[in-house]
Order: sequence, then C-alpha cells, then structure tokens
Amino acid sequence: MIDQRGILFVLSGPSGVGKGTVRKELFSRDTNLKYSISMTTRPMRPGEEEGKDYFYKSKDEFEQLIEQNALLEYAQYVDNYYGTPRKYVEQMLANGHDVFLEIEVQGALQVKENFPEGVFIFLFPPSLAALKDRIVNRGTEAEDLVLNRLKEAKKEIDMMDAYDYVVVNDQVDQAATKIQAIIQGEHCRRARIANQYKKILEDDTL
Ligand code: 5GP
Repeated sequence: MIDQRGILFVLSGPSGVGKGTVRKELFSRDTNLKYSISMTTRPMRPGEEEGKDYFYKSKDEFEQLIEQNALLEYAQYVDNYYGTPRKYVEQMLANGHDVFLEIEVQGALQVKENFPEGVFIFLFPPSLAALKDRIVNRGTEAEDLVLNRLKEAKKEIDMMDAYDYVVVNDQVDQAATKIQAIIQGEHCRRARIANQYKKILEDDTL
C-alpha cells in the first residue's frame, strides 16, 4: 500500500438522479470503501433501518450536533436536515481507508472547502424528464414535494462546475463501473504518491 491517508470521494447530484442506487451497486463490488452513514431529521421510509440507511435524529438533537461541531457538513434540504458525522470520516481517512459520501450539492460544496483534496463526482441525469419520472415513480413523496425536489435539482445542476468528474447515470452498472475507474485513477495520481517515491530515491541502501 503506497498511499498513507485514504481518499475522500464525494458522490453528489440532484435528488432522484439515482445516487443511492449507484452507491449500493458500487458497494456490492468494492469492499475497500468506507461508507459514511449520514444523520437526518427526515422520517424513516419503509424498508429503511436506523444505522444502516441513516441515523435518524430529532430536530433538537440535530441542532445540538451542529453546535458541537460534530458534523463535517450539513444542509437543510426540503424542510429536513441532513449531515455527515465528522469523527467517522476523519478517523477512517487517517487510518488509510477511502471514505465515500453520498450527499446533496450544498453539502458537497461545504466538504470541498474543508477537503479540497477530495474527489468530487457529479452524477448527472440522462434528462430532466427522466429525473422527474424517477422522483414520481419512487412514490415516497407528495406532489408538492416532487415539485420542490425538481426545482432543487435544476439549481443543483447549475453547480456542476465545482466538480472533478461527471458521470451520466443512464445505466446503473455502467455508472458504478465509471466510478470504480475514477477511484483507481485517483490512486495512481503522482501528487498522491510523490512522498513515497521520494523516500525510495533517498534510501542509500538500495
Ligand atoms: P433522501 O431523503 O432521498 O434520502 O435524501 C435527500 C437528499 O439528501 C439526497 O440528495 C441525498 O444524497 C442527500 N443526503 C443524504 N445524506 C446527506 C448528508 O449527510 N449531507 C447532505 N448534505 N446531504 C445528504
């Protein structure tokens, strides 16, 4: 293992683009990535589990976490809070693990301020019509929430410039394959391994 610190990968993009599905496909393949489970104040959806999909918090509990600076980033999104626990991410990176966040765009931009060396991947919808279909077909949102989420999606697409990579999600397995390629590519970057090969050059016993 040449790299010492892990790399922070941030998958972001509009709600309904399929971030969760792509992330699950990726994690079914790549066991070396550590997924950071987020905190949220939104109600649990059918089929979700505490500590697996999210840590579910009340608004008061969440606001306390903000005050304690326990969150690496957080965002208020369609009337709920979402945030990334700071400690887990920092510990995993320090221990040499790659960490993967799947978060919305405002949060991704905050992470970028603190971790400019992170790798920011924007998952792009094949079209806005496809995005609307996905939000509607998921059937978990009331109609006004669907409209809010679509409005939000347009604003988010406008923020794509801050990202390093764009992956179009027309097929989940192909999108996951592209993200795996990005992860491999990032581990081969000269700047990330420079300290290690300099040590080899300085070693007089070789
Ligand atoms: P959902 O309610 O559909 O699970 O998530 C709504 C949005 O919040 C999605 O775009 C999801 O990626 C994002 N999200 C999930 N966890 C976090 C987080 O910890 N921080 C931020 N900023 N967004 C999150």
